[in-house]
Amino acid sequence: MSAQPILDIVQPETALRPALDNLKHAFLQAPSPSAEQRIERLQRLHQALVAYQDRLIEAVDRDFNGRSSAETLMIELLPIFEGIHYNKKHLRKWMKTSSRKTPLMLFGASTQVHYQPLGVVGIVVPWNFPIFLGLSPLAGALAAGNLAMIKTSEFAPATGALMKEMIAEYFTSDEIVVVNGGVEVATEFTQLPFDHIVFTGSTQVGSIVMQAAAKNLTPVTLELGGKSPVIIHDDFPIEEAAKRIAFGKGLNAGQVCVSPDYILVPRNKVDSFAAAFSEAIAKHYATLKDNNDYTSIITERQRDRLLDNIHDAKEKGAEVVVINPANEDFSGTRKLPMHVVKGATSDMRVMKEEIFGPILPILPYDELDDAIQYVQDHDRPLALYYFDWDKNRIDKVIRRTHSGGVCINEVMTHTMVDDMPFGGVGSSGMGHYHGKEGFLNFSKAKSIVVKGRFDASQYIAAPWGNKLFNAFI
Ligand code: NAD
Repeated sequence: MSAQPILDIVQPETALRPALDNLKHAFLQAPSPSAEQRIERLQRLHQALVAYQDRLIEAVDRDFNGRSSAETLMIELLPIFEGIHYNKKHLRKWMKTSSRKTPLMLFGASTQVHYQPLGVVGIVVPWNFPIFLGLSPLAGALAAGNLAMIKTSEFAPATGALMKEMIAEYFTSDEIVVVNGGVEVATEFTQLPFDHIVFTGSTQVGSIVMQAAAKNLTPVTLELGGKSPVIIHDDFPIEEAAKRIAFGKGLNAGQVCVSPDYILVPRNKVDSFAAAFSEAIAKHYATLKDNNDYTSIITERQRDRLLDNIHDAKEKGAEVVVINPANEDFSGTRKLPMHVVKGATSDMRVMKEEIFGPILPILPYDELDDAIQYVQDHDRPLALYYFDWDKNRIDKVIRRTHSGGVCINEVMTHTMVDDMPFGGVGSSGMGHYHGKEGFLNFSKAKSIVVKGRFDASQYIAAPWGNKLFNAFI
């Protein structure tokens, strides 16, 4: 295996297409990698991560200007290790040709489905999980026998540069290529004739990517964003719900696609929820400013956007509670304390746009049906969280709402289960990775009829007066 040169692709029009052509050519030389070859590639990815783990953690910390190594380990690296292990364990079973029931009309033939690699998968990565969201889809693509090209996020440049170095050291340019760059590179990348594109990012850019891919009829998996609601039932202890939600909302300072975006709380419990949530956050993060456990906001621009949204909510009459336990001054930093917005209304930006940061609006409701109706009236979210002990009501909420995934009495942890598909619905995305569904997503299920020596067509072909044919109709 010859290591690939570390090229910084700054001239995309001269570098991207040849890199893809090279991968496509390489794929066609070996279009059907065995289980052993796939496992070996996954194993190499594992080795690469072990070798680069510390430097990757440090790069993410630099990109965020403050994110703890424990958090990066927990929410980025460990899930990739798990995913690699899971894919290695199951891919033999998934690859097996599946025999199907042959209709009587095809008497003498056998029918089967082959799961064939698609070819070269293009993977576009956002900044919030700059390692996991590149390498987790990669593990799925490799398990299904594909090659890949990854476009990292321009807002996590240190991580992007290191991912490029790592992949170039452990894989040849005939296997995986990493490209760094901004919107220009991304635009050109997504216009390339990949065999499949996995895009993780905003709903708005997802639509642009889908249109670009449509020109080549390239299928897309879109892992998008949205406003993931939490509904708390009156019967569920509000302090317990607040504690469980605080754990999830605090991760990466709310910069997570499945972060609880807003909370629907029984009208009489708004204040008790806000108080319990504030207390739970303050317990996790007693100080914020110099505390790496509490992640910074990725850029000044994102921080300004969040501050504008808080300002907009205040101007429109909301009561905003700032959770700043040590009473610190955050000017000149990229830290932003958690904000709880009481009295949020639908005309506020915090209720119109995905929040993607440490702001939590609380919406009061009177009847559970009203809360369900609110969710139904809005775009289909990536996740929905419901807190209740009653099985019938839980079932009702699951059946009457649409979302990519659901957690009951918990937030976000469904993303940690490799054995379940992960993906959105409607404006939160399409397609899946993780689980067997991920393998199928990156494979072509090819239907094959194999005819034997016996030719039954004489009985089912013209002249149509043929007796046997008439017996079928
Ligand atoms: P983004 O859409 O701005 O960018 C994502 C990627 O798309 C980047 O690599 C960027 O370079 C590229 N890009 C930007 N403009 C493009 C264009 N015109 N054509 C092609 N590619 C383009 O998203 P972001 O700000 O990096 O990430 C935040 C968003 O990602 C949030 O909406 C969040 O919910 C979503 N997200 C979703 C998931 C999920 O699994 N569903 C996970 C993480 C983040």
